[in-house]
Amino acid sequence: MNTTDNRSAPACAGADPELFFPITDNEDGPAFLQIQEAKAICAGCPIRESCLEDGMDEPYGVFGGTTPKERRRLRFKRGQASAGQFLPWAYA
Ligand code: SF4
Repeated sequence: MNTTDNRSAPACAGADPELFFPITDNEDGPAFLQIQEAKAICAGCPIRESCLEDGMDEPYGVFGGTTPKERRRLRFKRGQASAGQFLPWAYA
């Protein structure tokens, strides 16, 4: 009998790790397709939110469907929000 609860299993289990850690940091370059494929896997992941929170400070890789650049923007927005500032351009 299989007692594994797949509702909490990461969707990336068994996926190619290179999709989530492209060889280059240039998200618009050759890594673009790898990143898009990783994000598509993350989109159906049942632990996406916790993965994003755990990976928020990670400088490399796709976590919770976000790239390092996207996480930097999120950290910045959160920092501004917690400081009580409203910067409309940051939410564009
Ligand atoms: S959200 Fe995290 S755990 Fe889920 S597929 Fe993406 S990288 Fe893997």
